[in-house]
Amino acid sequence: MKRLVTFCLLASLLATIGLTSALSQNSKRKLEILYVDVEGGAATLIVTPAGESILVDTGWPGFEGRDAKRIETAMKAANISQIDHLIITHYHTDHYGGVPELAKRIKIGKFYDHGPMESLQEDKTFAEKYAAYKSAAGGKTITLQPGSTIELKQAAGTPKISLEVLAASGEVKPMRVKASPSAECNAAAKQADDPSDNARSVVFVLRYGAFDFLDSGDLTWNLEHKLVCPTNLIGEIDLYQVAHHGAETSNNPVLVNAIKPTVAIMNNGPRKGGHPNTVKTIRSMPTIKDLWQGHRNVGSTEEQNAPADFIANLEAQNDAAHMIRVSVDAAKKNFTVTNDRNKLTKTYSIK
Ligand SMILES: [Zn+2]
Repeated sequence: MKRLVTFCLLASLLATIGLTSALSQNSKRKLEILYVDVEGGAATLIVTPAGESILVDTGWPGFEGRDAKRIETAMKAANISQIDHLIITHYHTDHYGGVPELAKRIKIGKFYDHGPMESLQEDKTFAEKYAAYKSAAGGKTITLQPGSTIELKQAAGTPKISLEVLAASGEVKPMRVKASPSAECNAAAKQADDPSDNARSVVFVLRYGAFDFLDSGDLTWNLEHKLVCPTNLIGEIDLYQVAHHGAETSNNPVLVNAIKPTVAIMNNGPRKGGHPNTVKTIRSMPTIKDLWQGHRNVGSTEEQNAPADFIANLEAQNDAAHMIRVSVDAAKKNFTVTNDRNKLTKTYSIK
């Protein structure tokens, strides 16, 4: 009898261990996207179901390593200890300024950008910053071009994961078939051409099964038009990272309407981005379920912001640096967005 009890206890212990490891296997099989609060800069951390990590932009330099420390905190939360792929969308301080500090603290595998530059008319201290970036990368950077892909590891039993670059250096992926522009394309408003590095941002789509995520860095208006006119090179998207922190020189309605996002996440700061026109464009779209914001735009009215529950940081000064997290469950064909501040969680179907 005693032996039987011991056997039963052992069996149930083994079953529990089996269940626990199955659970951790399952939780590993999600695609995670974490919006690190870098105060109006950009730092989007992606962890694939195979446990591979992609960091898109690194936030600002200075502030005693604030943004690098916040990225490290996000990495711990995502249970990773190094960055396998670092994508720099473009050479503006709020996107690549944080690289040297981050590289001092953690291991970074491969560095990707839109290619070498000698000067930037909008940044008089470019040469110095670019040299610090190249040095942090050990001189080894990979140039992404329209049509480039980053090969990602495939986790067993999960749908295909892929990352494709659609624009970089001011060029979009060439179209195979010539299409004639739609009425929406012809009617779309133009803005003055943008000579800054924003227009050279790396734009990519990350696909995991049927889930599609678009990150276009700080790409601006006329290039956004080229991405969807005359041919929509992006297709329909589940999750849209609002371009350029929500600036009104980006988020051309012709693009936003063509990609039909279900959810939009905006990495604005308390006084940067989050323009009322952008908020209006996005919230008035028929397909959009919710807009989530990194910060409340403190210069805007309540109506000109997403509802407070969907905003990670409400105050102008807030050292808590709450994140917004996305978890994609391909098996259940849904994705969940969580506001770390109030733990508001919403689940959306994948298209
Ligand atoms: Zn920016």
